[in-house]
Amino acid sequence: MRGGDKPTSRGPSDPVAGTDRRLVLAAAVGAGAVLWANFARGATAQTVRLHDHATHTRLVVELTGPVEFKVRRFADPYRLAIDIPGLEWSGDERSAGTGLISNVQYSRQTSVATSIFVDLKGPVKVAHAFVLPATGTTPTRLVLDLEPSTRELFLAGAEAVPAAKIVPVVAKTSKIEPARKFKIVAIDPGHGGIDPGAIGFSGIYEKEITLAAARQLKTRIEATGRYKAILTRGDDSSVALRQRTEIARHGTADLFISLHADSIRDPGVRGLSVYTLSERASDAEAEALAAKENQADSIIGMDLSHESAEVRNILVDLAQRESRNLATRFAGRLIGELQREARLLSNSHRFAGFAVLKSPDIPSVLIEMGYLSNREDEAALKKEGYRTKLMTAVVRGVDQYFNSAVVARM
Ligand code: ZN
Repeated sequence: MRGGDKPTSRGPSDPVAGTDRRLVLAAAVGAGAVLWANFARGATAQTVRLHDHATHTRLVVELTGPVEFKVRRFADPYRLAIDIPGLEWSGDERSAGTGLISNVQYSRQTSVATSIFVDLKGPVKVAHAFVLPATGTTPTRLVLDLEPSTRELFLAGAEAVPAAKIVPVVAKTSKIEPARKFKIVAIDPGHGGIDPGAIGFSGIYEKEITLAAARQLKTRIEATGRYKAILTRGDDSSVALRQRTEIARHGTADLFISLHADSIRDPGVRGLSVYTLSERASDAEAEALAAKENQADSIIGMDLSHESAEVRNILVDLAQRESRNLATRFAGRLIGELQREARLLSNSHRFAGFAVLKSPDIPSVLIEMGYLSNREDEAALKKEGYRTKLMTAVVRGVDQYFNSAVVARM
């Protein structure tokens, strides 16, 4: 945008059609003319993601490198243009909207001028607009938060779009290193020490089954030569839930797998299920289970102490959402493999608020390997051979997860 652009028209009878570049409204923003000179090396946009929050709609563009950008506003229909000089595009040229956004499309206007057009369902306020630098596990991201506004404010340009700013992300030193030779998988045997977990049909403790399975998984996964495994406990000791996620973080784990075995009053219920973190832990049954596993631990925080509360919230939300998406992907692969070896519960992918799933930066799943309150499940889980089959399936699921395109580029 040239800083001197002026609105050329304001009338609702003067629509801006399609990708017509007549400006109805132009908001010069922080990344002004000076920055336009500096776009020789362009980045490529890989993915556009939209999240509909209760109070705002967030647009995240994943990029191969840092960019400069500015945001222009148009009315009739309501639309934003995010101008990013030199941007290349490798994703879908058009994607469907959600929340305040009706759709997003990419447009190359000249050889250097490229824009992402965000079609809106109504007038919005751009509450935040910034670029997050890449970290060891996430690409560069351009983030725009849109809140509902009024036509008057939108047209008046009263809310100037905030200057494009770079938010420094706290570096987790261990994760800035170039790609490691091994992926690191944290394996978490549920319960232990004074906490036996569920008590089985014949009296066996859940903590014994989970530790045995975890050791088998560690052996099998390391035997591939592709992974290193960290156990959150290697013996019958008590480890707090928060400590378990800390162990994974200090070990710079790429993936977290918690192993459990359930129990329920009805001895007829059996089958395996895989849990990932719920957005609201709405499912009542899942919530009851979450309460049971949670004890006193709460969410782990990243060290973002020198960031503003607002930025902190955005970063944690983004990280958690990303991890949750990846965990969901992993759970799908796991279930695909585990159903070949084990009987699964109906709705085998479940969502709950377990504390061990709450690492904002490590995709995490919890496997309830079966019901110790069920005679058949208990008998099976006591057998080394059955657990070996299960854990071998988990290794296949881990392989598929890390081989998938989305994860591999990280
Ligand atoms: Zn358990």
